[in-house]
Amino acid sequence: MNLFTFDDMKNIKRKTLGDAVPLELFRSVRLIGMYQGLPMKGKNTTLAVGRKIGESMEVTSLEEALQLFEELKIGIPRVIEKNGSELHIAIEDCFCEGLPVHEGNMVCDLEGAILEGALSPIYKGKIHVREVKCNVNGDAECEYKIRFS
Ligand SMILES: [Zn+2]
Repeated sequence: MNLFTFDDMKNIKRKTLGDAVPLELFRSVRLIGMYQGLPMKGKNTTLAVGRKIGESMEVTSLEEALQLFEELKIGIPRVIEKNGSELHIAIEDCFCEGLPVHEGNMVCDLEGAILEGALSPIYKGKIHVREVKCNVNGDAECEYKIRFS
């Protein structure tokens, strides 16, 4: 039994400040707090955190998961290529867009883990999401490869 569900997160009753927080706060939690603040750039933690969040979303299809990615303003997914066991997607307007480039750093692993967690119940765990490109690394856009196996 979970103390909080994703649906609980939608119950927002702030009268003055509303339902949004600035992107710099999200980025600060992600990049200053987690990426910089945790051992190994938060690798294991982001995976656990992302998967848990994704699972709580209870989506029922790949399309719904990608749509939610956009609704939550993480970024706008676009399919680049699809073959039998792999889906290659790019993320337009990723939350990391505009940050300074630091080659060798890909910072959108948690968001990929959210996707993996959201898709995991649909594909009975036989799914793996890997971040392959990132704006922060100097790439033209952020990209993930989703492997179904
Ligand atoms: Zn990104």
